[in-house]
Amino acid sequence: PQLVNQIAAGEVIERPASVVKELVENSLDAGAGHVEVQVEAGGSRLILVRDDGGGIHRDDLTLALSRHATSKIATLDDLERVATMGFRGEALPSISSVARLTLASRQPGENNAWRVVADGTESGYEPQPDAHPVGTTVEVRDLFYNTPARRKFLRTEKTEFGHIEGVIKRIALSRFDVGFSLSHNQAPVIRYKPAADDAQGERRIGAVCGEDFLRQAVRVDFASAGLRLWGWVGLPTFSRGQADMQYFYVNGRLARDKLVGHAVRQAYQDVLHHERQPAYVLYLELDPALVDVNAHPAKLEVRFREGRLVHDFLFSALRRSLADLRP
Ligand code: ADP
Ligand code: MG
Repeated sequence: PQLVNQIAAGEVIERPASVVKELVENSLDAGAGHVEVQVEAGGSRLILVRDDGGGIHRDDLTLALSRHATSKIATLDDLERVATMGFRGEALPSISSVARLTLASRQPGENNAWRVVADGTESGYEPQPDAHPVGTTVEVRDLFYNTPARRKFLRTEKTEFGHIEGVIKRIALSRFDVGFSLSHNQAPVIRYKPAADDAQGERRIGAVCGEDFLRQAVRVDFASAGLRLWGWVGLPTFSRGQADMQYFYVNGRLARDKLVGHAVRQAYQDVLHHERQPAYVLYLELDPALVDVNAHPAKLEVRFREGRLVHDFLFSALRRSLADLRP
């Protein structure tokens, strides 16, 4: 099973940022209101994710580290809805096969917390009593210590941390209601407060994308034929020379799709006669039955069942909104 886990890890865990993504998504699945991430040495020395979610029962701690034992998918219907983000029961076993993993957790109403340590040997795992508030902490040390080829593939601390920061930003844009913090080598880097309502959502956009983006962007909110598009679009010139600021969420999940990219570029071209480097944070909501989400947890591809309809909807919604941006 160790080898199987390592092979699975090869698919899911590419770099420290992949670990952060899986752990933070687990925290969100557990209903966390705040997720704290501590990173050392670009994540290769330490990735610690702490949440205040529902926790894991003592008897389930060991199970959580075994492959497929805890998949959140109960039925095919669930799969279609992808109600929770994690759905393969592979992340924790995969991570523990390529790093030293400690899991500490306490459920509400329990007198104390429990901790299991997985050092990649699949021995032991007997839960020990621990002091920990309600919620869960996952500590991942020495990533790829036992897979030297992968470890060698890691980039500089700065680059790896940059990827981690990107993951937190992308997730933070999908959950305004959750607070996030991120530190690197003990220094605080990100601190996003949870937003109580939609109006406060703007604060999250400002925090993640910068106040400059927010100042010049226009609001999008457009619904038709069961589709809704909302969010913010900015001037293409805004992002010139800056890092990509193109966030597109489908039913709350970050998505990358050719058709979406095409519709966005076409709308920019049509209204502003400029299609390069658009800057946007957009949320598309539609009947989940109209979208195929790639079952691979590390990929972002989506497939729309009514591609033409979605494309035309996006194009006309964006064209209207961009008209407000025209200088
Ligand atoms: P999946 O998320 O696909 O179920 P994972 O390997 O990511 O699989 O996690 C295994 C299980 O461990 C989860 O199904 C969940 O029951 C439990 N778990 C992991 N992280 C947390 C967390 N932060 N809070 C509560 N439960 C957790
Ligand atoms: Mg998961």
